[in-house]
Amino acid sequence: MKIETLAVHAGYEPDPTTKAVAVPIYQTTSYAFDSTQHGADLFDLKVEGNIYSRIMNPTTAVLEQRVTEMEGGLAALGLSSGQAATTYSLLTIAEAGDNFISTSTLYGGTYNLFAHTFPQIGIDARFADPEDIDGMAALIDDRTKAIYCESLGNPAGNIIDLQALSDMAHAHGVPVIVDNTVPSPYLNNPFKWGCDIIVHSLTKYMGGHGTIIGGVLVDSGKFDWVANKDRFRRLNEPDVSYHGVVFTEALAEAAYIGRARVVPLRNMGSAISAMTSFLALQGIETLPLRMDRVCENTLAVATHLQQHAQVDWVRYAALPDSPYKALADKYMDGRASGILSFGIKGGLEAATKFIDALGLVTRLVNIGDAKSLACHPASTTHRQLSPEEQAASGVSEDLVRLSIGIEHIDDILEDIDQALAAAK
Ligand SMILES: *Cc1c(COP(=O)(O)O)cnc(C)c1O
Repeated sequence: MKIETLAVHAGYEPDPTTKAVAVPIYQTTSYAFDSTQHGADLFDLKVEGNIYSRIMNPTTAVLEQRVTEMEGGLAALGLSSGQAATTYSLLTIAEAGDNFISTSTLYGGTYNLFAHTFPQIGIDARFADPEDIDGMAALIDDRTKAIYCESLGNPAGNIIDLQALSDMAHAHGVPVIVDNTVPSPYLNNPFKWGCDIIVHSLTKYMGGHGTIIGGVLVDSGKFDWVANKDRFRRLNEPDVSYHGVVFTEALAEAAYIGRARVVPLRNMGSAISAMTSFLALQGIETLPLRMDRVCENTLAVATHLQQHAQVDWVRYAALPDSPYKALADKYMDGRASGILSFGIKGGLEAATKFIDALGLVTRLVNIGDAKSLACHPASTTHRQLSPEEQAASGVSEDLVRLSIGIEHIDDILEDIDQALAAAK
């Protein structure tokens, strides 16, 4: 089935007992075992079934199956936030002494996690220019566990050449982990281009209404962990934290997502709630409809701003003169989701005045809401970064980031024009 249909149906048929058509919210902590033996088999991963809602929940299972099918993967793991999904995507395979390579164009929270928190636990993030694939290859050594990138950078707006990156990574026996939050599975399917693991913040376009914090990790099931036995010992050798199970033997191609569930999630506990999974499912049903409107509105705003005398530059990959237009055509059918940034004439002062003068467009830090939103990354999301770090992540003082919603385009443009007039 096509993604518009999967978004509404995948992973659920009306419940056979109650005939509930909407996905029920299973508000329960635990699940009864049929017998002691049944409980033991569940813990040994010999039979499938529910144990405890920190590790799995039937509402969340529908969400996991739906996102899996929309991305064309093997299996998924729902988590409490996008940040938890990013953290576990790496902790499933990396430990103290290991390293991974990341493009420098990242969401601010991810940059802080990589630049500061991971090094504090002995995992080294090696940052690289996203355009320089050979430069990334040169950073790989025998303790490199993954290459990490954002398919469409937030807020930089750059698009990664996923196919070239996957080819290079696989030639070195390393998987590619890609944060696909900004395009969503409706615009980009990284597994089609060879990527191995996908991270999503459900908080953004998937949830779509600014009501939840959630995340999901999706496994393509295609990366050969066994062929790269020495690099991925945690998946190929008995795991003491899970009574000696060898994940590649017990779970075959689901080794990675299985370990993510029963080691990082079980032991560290960033579980998503059933209510959040339900709300994410509600959002996902209309993702394709909202994304069509968002892309159309954002291109109209970008084109309008490009022609405005008070605007120095506009960054939006779907614009015909964008350096990323060719990659947008290849990976996203020429579209570029709902985030655009522009440089306002008059720098920091004008940017502040512009944001303060907005009426309809809300001042906040979020993206992917049905409502149009504005923020000034240099003073908010990227505030903790040094000027050099800000520059590497694509942030400058005159940069205003807009996340365009699904309102009528005339109302959005009117608000932007009056705020630009006020910033003069
Ligand atoms: C928001 C965001 C995250 C973090 O997600 P949370 O749900 O807020 O933890 C990660 N990556 C990108 C691209 C984001 O926009």
